[in-house]
Amino acid sequence: MRLFIAEKPSLAAAIAAQLPGTATKTRTHIEVGNDIVTWCVGHILEQFMPEDYDASLKQWRAESLPIAPAQWKLKIKDGMQGQVKAIGDLLKKADAVVNAGDPDREGQLLVDEVLLYLGNRKPVQRVLVSDYNEAPVKKALASIKSNNDPQFRGWYESALARSRFDWLFGLNLTRAYTLAARRIGYEGVLSVGRVQTPTLGLVVGRDLAIENFKPIPFYTLTATVQHANGTFAANWRAKPGQTGLDDEGRLIDAATAQALATRLTGKSARIEKYEKKPANENAPLPFSLSSLQMAANDRYGLTAQQVLDICQALYETHKLTTYPRTDCNYLSEAQHADAATIIGVVTANLPELATVAKKADTSRKSPAFNDSKVTAHHAIVPTSRRMDAASLNDNERKVYDMVVRTYLAQFFPPSQFLKTDIEVAIDGEKFTAKGKTPVSAGWREIYAQPEPEGEDADSEDDDKQALPAMNQGDAAQCKQCVANNRKTTPPQRFTEKLLLAAMVDIHKYVDDPAAKARLKEGQGIGTEATRAGIIEELKKRGFIGQLKAGSKQIVSTPAGRGLIAALPAHAKNPALTGICEQALDMVAAGRLSGDDFIARNMQLITKLVTDASSATLNVPVAPTFPCPDCKTGQLKKRNGKNGAFWSCSNWNAEPKCSAAYDDFRGKPNFNPKPKGGFAKKAPAKKAQPK
Ligand SMILES: [Zn+2]
Repeated sequence: MRLFIAEKPSLAAAIAAQLPGTATKTRTHIEVGNDIVTWCVGHILEQFMPEDYDASLKQWRAESLPIAPAQWKLKIKDGMQGQVKAIGDLLKKADAVVNAGDPDREGQLLVDEVLLYLGNRKPVQRVLVSDYNEAPVKKALASIKSNNDPQFRGWYESALARSRFDWLFGLNLTRAYTLAARRIGYEGVLSVGRVQTPTLGLVVGRDLAIENFKPIPFYTLTATVQHANGTFAANWRAKPGQTGLDDEGRLIDAATAQALATRLTGKSARIEKYEKKPANENAPLPFSLSSLQMAANDRYGLTAQQVLDICQALYETHKLTTYPRTDCNYLSEAQHADAATIIGVVTANLPELATVAKKADTSRKSPAFNDSKVTAHHAIVPTSRRMDAASLNDNERKVYDMVVRTYLAQFFPPSQFLKTDIEVAIDGEKFTAKGKTPVSAGWREIYAQPEPEGEDADSEDDDKQALPAMNQGDAAQCKQCVANNRKTTPPQRFTEKLLLAAMVDIHKYVDDPAAKARLKEGQGIGTEATRAGIIEELKKRGFIGQLKAGSKQIVSTPAGRGLIAALPAHAKNPALTGICEQALDMVAAGRLSGDDFIARNMQLITKLVTDASSATLNVPVAPTFPCPDCKTGQLKKRNGKNGAFWSCSNWNAEPKCSAAYDDFRGKPNFNPKPKGGFAKKAPAKKAQPK
């Protein structure tokens, strides 16, 4: 018997469907002919925590840092005991095993670590399935390889090295910086992580840039040009050698601007260029998780985590959309054959789309159908499942609708328009104007809306204006030229959409050329599956929050800023991930051992931990008052059932002090006696905090 161990149940089902024989499904596996297919549920094992290695490490102490396990150990994740046992029992009966993890480094590790944990000695093979459709799965099953192939050993080694590095880096630095903050009275946890900390650094950096921003005034010039066929506005372009400009080519000299405006008003003009070109815009590609998270944040204000949860429900519970944790925007060519069926079903599911969906041309193959661009997974698309109309909640319906429309768009022609480019000469100065005339909506019809506004960053180029028909060489006149007062604007605040985009495009924030190139290739920091969780973690830790209630804009908190300010560049620079990935590529290629990779990084971690012991932290610390009862403790504000009160820090010391005072305007009320005729009750002693 061959035992397939798939990364997840859906992959197990896809493999079982293509194996010869009748399938019988149980809670833990599927039997098909001579084969059995079982599954993991992502990682079903997790790393030991420090206290699992040594109970005394449960206490956070600077002396015990850095913590580095001599012998790494894994434990079974909560709730996964049953599945691990089932895999172990099946292994005993198997003659051979097939690792069916996702075809990437993480997928390799995920199944290999289970085999190691269970002490497997049976021969292991490897199957690579990236597309769950019939033909690609059959093809994959026909080309099963040995799991000892150097490529797969490299994948395993590099994924293992990365997980150990993340553990060492996150655990040690979190403890080191939290302990440093506690020395000055901070009570929270200053969590540090390879991905979360540079992400927080992005938000802090942006906030500081906005706060320190000083707007620079500059001037633009707009001419109202009169042609025999109509009037239009054109914008001044500085000529080479123009004086009064700043480094960025902006006109900053007010006198020059005013002089130009006065001189050009009333002068004759000539149309130097009049060009009309047809242009096409293809439909947007189907969604990857991050592109869907960005679009849904933009459109409906949903958070990255909400979108991930919704997608997971649409996939698992409702079975209406495909696997959500994908970084791919493409579909396999085999999926093209499903178009007619899927479109039929989605129009029944969303009747409001019936009219427009009739125009979908399933013989059209958009650039999205491209085998060479499909990675471990394909893009998120609707399935051919009929929807139970009542079963979806409002947000699920919104996200499903977005996925459906983007899928439909693949079967529509490009949106066509005419681009008009005009150049006007006025008394030796150059002005330009642009126009865009829609010819046919194409795929835009599905969205029943014109093109989104604000796509053109240069608001001076108003390409929405209607331009009169003209010819090159035509005479015209500058009726009026005005100088406009402008100011440079600060960078935009992050929203979840923009933060996700920045995590993907993190290379833009890195100077080191090699790290930059590797980050670009690896699509940034974090993965599709983890980015939402990282943002949630930063919120939960109180490092970032909403600018104001109900706002999509994100700002850093004083604690978040204090942490970033205290951390050395190495610990918060996204280049660290880039450099790490380069080294992990060497591990994957067998040119560096995983142990050497860890040993090198241990030096860095040890230095960072040592630096933390003398780091100056500027984190918000709650005020305290000396305890008048025991004279050694500090009174700290607590929140009890009946509101805030102050109690002594020696409440569980030896000897213990049970001093407690009511809160009065943010301070302990040491003076409970009624004053000035107001009858006030003396404060009752409150229960001590647990
Ligand atoms: Zn006291």
